[in-house]
Amino acid sequence: MNHIIPRNQGGPDDLSNFQALCFRCNAGKRDTDRTDFRGLLASYQHRQEGCVFCALEGSGRVLLENELALCIADAYPVSEGHSLVIPRRHVSDGLELHQP
Ligand SMILES: [Zn+2]
Repeated sequence: MNHIIPRNQGGPDDLSNFQALCFRCNAGKRDTDRTDFRGLLASYQHRQEGCVFCALEGSGRVLLENELALCIADAYPVSEGHSLVIPRRHVSDGLELHQP
């Protein structure tokens, strides 16, 4: 169990301030980070109108997929088997794709 707003920063000790994290994420967050991960799971399901990557789902181009990403064959491969792995989350850059 993790306090979203750490108790040493005034976070309340009630359900509105709790989230469940795995040991690794909890250890990485520590008591200085206020990251609220409760909406993270829903972010994997979010699809954006006009997103070229969201439009790939159901297009028949997906080679592999799981809850985190999908893999498609590159339309202009630089070598045989060249493919693209596309995260399901919409983020501004790759650095936002850190754990969890
Ligand atoms: Zn998208």
